[in-house]
Amino acid sequence: MILGHTIALDPTQDQACHLRRACGTARFAYNWGLAEWRRMHNAGEKPSANTIKRRWNAFRKSQLPWTYDVTKCASGQAILDLGTAFNNFFRDCKKPKRQRKFRYPRFKRKSLNESFDIWADQFDLDWDKVRIPKLGWVRTRENVRLCGVIMGATVSFSGGRWFLSVQVDAISERQPAPQGTVCGVDLGSRTLATIAGTDSEADAESVSGPKPRRRLLGRIKRLQRRISLQKHRAKKLGIKASRRQYCRQLRLSKLHARLANIRKDAAHKLTSDLTRRFETIVIEDLNVSGMAKNHSLAGAVLDCGFHEIRRQFQYKAAMHGGRIVIANRFFPSTQVCCKCGCLTGPKGREALHIERWVCAECGAEHNRDANAAINLRSLGLAKPELTCGDMAPLPACVSIPASTVDEPQTETVLTFEHI
Ligand SMILES: [Zn+2]
Repeated sequence: MILGHTIALDPTQDQACHLRRACGTARFAYNWGLAEWRRMHNAGEKPSANTIKRRWNAFRKSQLPWTYDVTKCASGQAILDLGTAFNNFFRDCKKPKRQRKFRYPRFKRKSLNESFDIWADQFDLDWDKVRIPKLGWVRTRENVRLCGVIMGATVSFSGGRWFLSVQVDAISERQPAPQGTVCGVDLGSRTLATIAGTDSEADAESVSGPKPRRRLLGRIKRLQRRISLQKHRAKKLGIKASRRQYCRQLRLSKLHARLANIRKDAAHKLTSDLTRRFETIVIEDLNVSGMAKNHSLAGAVLDCGFHEIRRQFQYKAAMHGGRIVIANRFFPSTQVCCKCGCLTGPKGREALHIERWVCAECGAEHNRDANAAINLRSLGLAKPELTCGDMAPLPACVSIPASTVDEPQTETVLTFEHI
């Protein structure tokens, strides 16, 4: 399994300057390749990453001596990436419009988040340093903790810091999770996750998320307002952005990085803990983009980082030899009573605030999230044949309204019940 290990770098000022130049070279090569690709296409030729790379090498030899100041991987990999971008785009063109993910490659612009790649045979790692070609040894904050074959690395600048991300084809040394253990995880915005490892509601654990957005939003808004005002002024006067403006943008990018780090930390703690303890984990397939369309929910929903949690669950379960079962988007985990199986629970948008409810059929009192987690767990127990990442089919008693299949808009209304 290929895993990335991101390590903070500690470059000196001169070294940071060199790294920035390498990022710039990578960007230049990408843009040059894209322009060349378009030119070849318009001239009726058949461009490919290899022909572009050959032309780039000939062109830089005669015209661009400064590209030799930095490692050849920076520009070489950028052009290979351009080829991948075009391949993805052309492959997507054959799919129906709604399933497409990739757009036509666009020119890159100078930004505060940049990177370049280094090939595996071009760099060396020592205990607390890395040797970058044409630069020399740069200090790192820690050593690579994964065992396996090193596939390559990316040097990137984000949130005001330099990072080295090493891709390793790792050998998993993790302990397998205890056999036969199943848990249901109900993800929500009020409590980040409610975990049911047994059939009893009293045993359900709840993990409250950090909600960093609520805390940092004021500062982000203020900075963004200032930056946009300044941009507007500069445009009106026809001047370049000032040094102070650059610092402000850097401060904003640091704030965003902090937000992301807080989110990632919570997600890693949750997923590591659960994949260690349970062999099978059942989660819901939440329609996050649909829920984010509702303005009153969007912030709270996006603050949880559900997508990241699901991604981490999947690769960590594979590392521990476990599996993740994904419940269908229309599985009514909140509405089913876990005692009698009747659809008597809170339903619809109006019932979003209900935390406790009593089943009208059997009279059992339920906690909304714990009940949902138990239902998800039973789904995992009932379907031992599903493998990691499989979507569980809907039970026969649940039917999707015909209208929701055709119209994606009504789908969003249905999924509000999960939060
Ligand atoms: Zn009941």
